[in-house]
Amino acid sequence: MEKVMTLPNYINGQWCTSSTMEYLDVLNPATAEILVKVPLSPACEVNEAVEAAAEAFVSWRRTPPTERVQYLFKLKNLLEENLEDLARTITLECGKTLAESQGEMQRAIENVEVACGIPMMMQGTNLEDIARGIDEMMIRQPLGVAAVIAPFNFPGMIPFWFMPYALACGNTYIVKPSEKVPLTMQKIFQLLEKTGLPKGIVNLVNGAKEAVDAILDHPKIRAISFVGSTPVAKYIYSRAAANGKRVQCQGGAKNPLIVLPDADLEMTTRIAADSAFGCAGQRCLAASIAVTVGQTRHTFTEAIAETAKKRVVGNGLESGVEMGPVITTQSKTRIEDLIQKGADEGATVLVDGRDPNISGYENGNFIRPTILQNVDPAGEIARTEIFGPVLSLIHLETIEQAIALINSGQYGNMACLFTTSGAAARKFRYEAEAGNIGINIGVAAPMAFFPFSGWKESFFGDLHGQSNHAVEFFTQTKVVVERWPKDWSRQF
Ligand code: NAD
Repeated sequence: MEKVMTLPNYINGQWCTSSTMEYLDVLNPATAEILVKVPLSPACEVNEAVEAAAEAFVSWRRTPPTERVQYLFKLKNLLEENLEDLARTITLECGKTLAESQGEMQRAIENVEVACGIPMMMQGTNLEDIARGIDEMMIRQPLGVAAVIAPFNFPGMIPFWFMPYALACGNTYIVKPSEKVPLTMQKIFQLLEKTGLPKGIVNLVNGAKEAVDAILDHPKIRAISFVGSTPVAKYIYSRAAANGKRVQCQGGAKNPLIVLPDADLEMTTRIAADSAFGCAGQRCLAASIAVTVGQTRHTFTEAIAETAKKRVVGNGLESGVEMGPVITTQSKTRIEDLIQKGADEGATVLVDGRDPNISGYENGNFIRPTILQNVDPAGEIARTEIFGPVLSLIHLETIEQAIALINSGQYGNMACLFTTSGAAARKFRYEAEAGNIGINIGVAAPMAFFPFSGWKESFFGDLHGQSNHAVEFFTQTKVVVERWPKDWSRQF
């Protein structure tokens, strides 16, 4: 039998085998085949990475921004040259379709492109003569060592909401990928190595809770970015903040999509289906509830049910497949239990994906698109993040009721409206309590040059990932007030 490869860490410019005895199998969610084994690195390996990063920071912060971004230009080229291989790796370990994986890597590359503008983005401000002969300036300086703790659902993209900006601003960095999908970052670090970045500037430590806790507690780590579920986000936020760190934590979501009677039915159905079932519903911006307003109760319900039934489910590597599996068998069981919970709460399982019957993939974690009708807006299922291909339908009579439902929710990651009315769109944009709003858009993912703006329990912190928010997050401001003696010319 072929031996399964174990993944190394990348610390101080070296690939090193973890000293741990604990490894997890990384499985292909479509086939249950073991792809690699990932080490659950002990705290001492995080400490090694931090020491290397702290040492590298001394000269990296002195490297001119114009030189720092040259490494990012090289990285952009390498990511583009290797996009197909990276996309295939994402599909292998995460299950999404190849097209979805390619799109994910495009988003990662966009963030590298934006961070290449750091010589402009990192500039400070100044004002002469704040008093006679006195000038004041605000400059931005890097923090030191920063780290990201990433989730499973976008193994290629999510660290790029942070890492390129951190590096471009002159910080050094540690990435802790999700232990469920560590292969993609392994390949990305092989490319980072090829850019010729000096040792210690970027470090990769695989692992789970012990590695995370070591990151949260290490006194030399100045800033932490986290993306994952809300309970873990709260834990990371409070423990890292108690340790005096700058923290930004993106959490879970329960995203509503509102369909007004004047919406374009064909377009709305297509976009709503992509939002709810794309990436098998494992997107923090997946629509999870569709609220039908007025007569759309019947028209939209019928149309979305038909679309859901037609979606082609299978191995994401195969052409024609529109939806892959969910990440683990535990996740599949949890989603199936939640579908049952919805039925127990009185919903009708209008389209039931629990018996997927995907020929040749009996061991895969498949669920077909599922639609729950007449979901109780006050019930558990309308409030719980399912993170699978399940769309709950709720019917209301007015846009006001729909906005009130959105605003009563715990999360605030995204809310979408489908309408042809500018006035309704304006009202929605103004009143809906979510940080990312879609108007006739089903996945309102901000481009790299806008911040990824979750609200409420979808985000803990102040500055978000991407764009100028990331530049602010990865720098500290210094204000200098200067007065020079009038007779300075006598020195020469
Ligand atoms: P998760 O919270 O289980 O894990 C995220 C990271 O935290 C992983 O690296 C994991 O190793 C670590 N971790 C998990 N439990 C921990 C613990 N008890 N102590 C310390 N570290 C721990 O999340 P996931 O299942 O990988 O990802 C799915 C979740 O991420 C969903 O809730 C989804 O909505 C959310 N998400 C949010 C966004 C966003 O932008 N808001 C984006 C993507 C995913």
